[in-house]
Amino acid sequence: MIKPILPGATLGVLGSGQLGRMFTLAAARMGYHVHVYSPGRQTPAGEVATQEHSAPYEDTQALTAFARQVEVVTFEFENVPSSVCEVIEKYARVAPSGNVFHICQNRLREKSTLRGSGLPVPDFLAVRSLQELQAGLKIIGCPAVIKTSSSGYDGKGQAVIRSAEDLTSAWDSLSTDEAILEQLVDFDSEISVIGARNPQGDVAFFRPFHNTHRSHILDITLCPAALPQSVEDNAIEISRHVLEQLNVTGVLCVELFVKRDGSLLINELAPRPHNSGHLTIDAHSTCQFEQQVRAICGLPLGSVRQLSAAAMANVLGDLWQPAVPDWSALAADGEARLHLYGKKNPGMGRKMGHITALGPTTSAARELVLAARDRLQNHNP
Ligand code: AMP
Repeated sequence: MIKPILPGATLGVLGSGQLGRMFTLAAARMGYHVHVYSPGRQTPAGEVATQEHSAPYEDTQALTAFARQVEVVTFEFENVPSSVCEVIEKYARVAPSGNVFHICQNRLREKSTLRGSGLPVPDFLAVRSLQELQAGLKIIGCPAVIKTSSSGYDGKGQAVIRSAEDLTSAWDSLSTDEAILEQLVDFDSEISVIGARNPQGDVAFFRPFHNTHRSHILDITLCPAALPQSVEDNAIEISRHVLEQLNVTGVLCVELFVKRDGSLLINELAPRPHNSGHLTIDAHSTCQFEQQVRAICGLPLGSVRQLSAAAMANVLGDLWQPAVPDWSALAADGEARLHLYGKKNPGMGRKMGHITALGPTTSAARELVLAARDRLQNHNP
C-alpha cells in the first residue's frame, strides 16, 4: 500500500514552463508546496512556486538537493534524461516512472510498444539512411511523413513526402541518423484523450477533445467533440489500455486520428498534462493539473464531470505583432477567461497563454473564444 501524500507536503516538478506553472497553481490551491527545477531563472512556474531551483539537468548535486526537499517528483516534458530519474529516485518518488519517459521520448520505441500491445497506429518503419528511406517508401507507399525519432514537437523535425522526388530534400531537412517513416493518414479529425492513473490502479478519463492545428501548433480545442458515442467509447478504451500497459502513475495524453470510417489510430503520447486539456481548468469539476496532483500523491482521482461546453484558443507570440495585445479590450469581455503564462519574450509561434470560453453548445463556445482572441489583436502600434 502506497502512503498518500497529503496537503502540507512538498511536491517537485521538473521543467518550469506553462505546464509546470498550472500544475503548481493547482497544487498550491490544494494546500501543497511546490519546488520547481530547471536551468532557467524567473520562469513561468518558478514565479508561482514555493522555491525555484535553477541548475542544469546534468547537475547531480543540485538534483540531489532538490530531491531531498520533496516527496514526489513529476515532469512537464518527456525528454528527461534517464540519469535524472535515477538520481531523484534515491530520495523521492518519481511519477510517471523513468520507463514511461524512455518509451515516450522516442517515436520508434513508442509506436513499436503500442503496436506490440495490439493498439492501432499508422503503418510505420524505421529509417536510418536515404537508401533505407527509398526502400521504406516502397513498403509504406505515398504520401508518407518522415519524422525524427526523438526531439520533435509541434511539427518540428518532420517532412511530408508526396512523391519519390521529395526523398532527398526530406531526408536532408531532418539532419538525423534515425527517423520514422509513417503513412500519411487521411484523417477526418484529430482528437486527444487525457487520462489519469493513481498508484492504486484507479483510472479516470476526460471525454475526448477535438483539436485543430495551425502551422502544426494546436490552435483550437473543443469539448465535447462532435463524435458518435461509439468513437468516444473506443478512444477512451484505447487510452485505458495505454495507461495500463505502460503502468502510468500520473496524467497521460493520447493523441489520435479519427479516420473517415470512424476508426482510430494513435498519433502520439504525452506522459503529462497536455495543451488540449487546458479547458478543463474552467470547464470541468477537476482539471487535468489537479488530477496530476491527485494521481502522483496517491489520492483518489477527482470527478471528470464537464460543467459546460467549452472552447480553448491558444494565444501565441504572433499576437504581439504589430503591437502588444489589447488586454483592456479582452477584459471588457466578461465571458473570456484569459490564462497568461508569464513569459517575457513573445516569439512567433511561442505559446504565451490561452483563452477559454464556456457556452451552451460547443459551437457557441467556439464563436465566443474566437471573438475574444480577435479582440486581443491590436492593430495600432
Ligand atoms: P506530431 O508532431 O507527430 O504530433 O505531428 C504534428 C501534426 O502533424 C499532427 O497533429 C498531424 O496534424 C500531422 N501528422 C503527423 N503525423 C501524421 C500522419 N502519420 N498522418 C497525417 N498527419 C500527420
